Amino acid sequence: GDEMTIISGVLNYKSKTVEEVMTKLEDCYLLDVLSILDFRTIAHIMQSGHSRIPVYDGERHNIVGLLLVKDLAFIDTDDCTPLRTVIKFYNHRVQRVFDDVHLDAMLEEFKKGHSHLAVVQRVNNEGDGDPFYEAIGIVTLEDILEEIIQSE
Ligand code: ATP
Ligand code: ATP
Repeated sequence: GDEMTIISGVLNYKSKTVEEVMTKLEDCYLLDVLSILDFRTIAHIMQSGHSRIPVYDGERHNIVGLLLVKDLAFIDTDDCTPLRTVIKFYNHRVQRVFDDVHLDAMLEEFKKGHSHLAVVQRVNNEGDGDPFYEAIGIVTLEDILEEIIQSE
């Protein structure tokens, strides 16, 4: 029954990693830091249905900021405000976590921190250049709770 499902979820979630429950980068709704907050863009953000939108610079693997939909409350679409201005003004910290972190540790991070969304990153050491961190997805508190109560 439901109780057994929840109990087994509670017992088993610890063995899973954030990579197993994250939303993959290709499925994430992100914004280009060069976006202009005109009516079309804000309508598009509202349609996404998400309250936190990671912001990238140059390419999607390079997450540089976070927009909260509530940051848009005082934006006049006629002003065509650059997204970069809003990102700099609020300057929300982007929580980051490595792909192999276990869900119990991630839950502790979420309890400590102010945000309930983290960017999942890994080290990319393919290619000739220096290794660098790249984003491969996002994980939220909701993703962990779903794993615990097995609601997916
Ligand atoms: P639309 O009704 O404008 O087509 P949609 O809700 O159907 O939007 P998509 O199909 O994902 O959404 O995107 C199609 C259009 O939205 C394209 O014109 C694309 O340039 C634009 N678009 C996609 N992402 C963004 C974004 N982050 N900001 C502004 N416009 C975007
Ligand atoms: P809410 O308004 O309840 O905060 P939300 O979609 O913004 O909704 P969560 O409830 O934390 O955020 O997450 C629900 C699911 O959506 C999770 O699987 C999470 O990974 C995913 N998610 C959150 N933000 C985004 C985003 N910007 N793009 C794609 N998926 C996202």
